[in-house]
Amino acid sequence: MIEFKDVSKFYGPFQVLKNCSLKVAKGEVVVVCGPSGSGKSTLIKCANGLEPFQKGELIVDGVPLHDPKTDMPKLRARVGMVFQNFELFPHLKIAENLCLAQQKVLGRGKDEAMVKGMALLDRVGLKEHSHKFPGQLSGGQQQRVAIARALAMDPIAMLFDEPTSALDPEMVNEVLDVMVELAREGMTMMVVTHEMGFARKVAHRVVFMDKGEVVENAAKDDFFNAPRSDRAQLFLSKIL
Ligand code: ADP
Ligand code: MG
Repeated sequence: MIEFKDVSKFYGPFQVLKNCSLKVAKGEVVVVCGPSGSGKSTLIKCANGLEPFQKGELIVDGVPLHDPKTDMPKLRARVGMVFQNFELFPHLKIAENLCLAQQKVLGRGKDEAMVKGMALLDRVGLKEHSHKFPGQLSGGQQQRVAIARALAMDPIAMLFDEPTSALDPEMVNEVLDVMVELAREGMTMMVVTHEMGFARKVAHRVVFMDKGEVVENAAKDDFFNAPRSDRAQLFLSKIL
């Protein structure tokens, strides 16, 4: 579903991604971890065309993102993305947040968008909150709305960039529970997170990045039982 082949990206002289290669198969959950500044956000944003890159190939559901002819907005509409800071529209009610892109990007009618949006809001346990503004919800609730909003676009895959790291600890699990359910339903997911409990529960593979490189890309059990690189071992010893 997602394949990075030797992807490199530069900010001027600074190389932020160094020949990154990895694959995410359909239905697979890949957790990406690594120290701050190692390039995790940059990598994941490349996968829905939010970040351009200079070298290598990146193919998402058969679409070559390295090809300048690719219609990026169309691709972006098909790959859901959830950010650390929710990124809901603060001036729009929850219901409107859920419907906007469905109507503007997918051309759905208001009623259809609303039915879909409300079903997903119910699924994340928030159907009573559709008339509120994002600021009236807790961080955990806002993040669940952001997930519902992404799912309303019928994505072929979901990308998460540290979806729980801005949350108070007591709200982390309500968001992870939604993600675990999605994973178990077979959603293709690429998840940047340091929640190793989540990784142990649902990840198929774990990718460890350091200084712009994919240092380790291992089956989950192999990663946790015996990380091969010193850098991954050191990282795990600090966060576990
Ligand atoms: P991570 O998500 O692993 O913390 P990022 O992908 O956000 O890492 O950033 C990787 C590196 O790229 C960092 O060193 C960061 O400072 C640098 N970086 C990120 N965005 C920019 C930018 N727009 N211009 C220059 N450097 C950047
Ligand atoms: Mg980041």
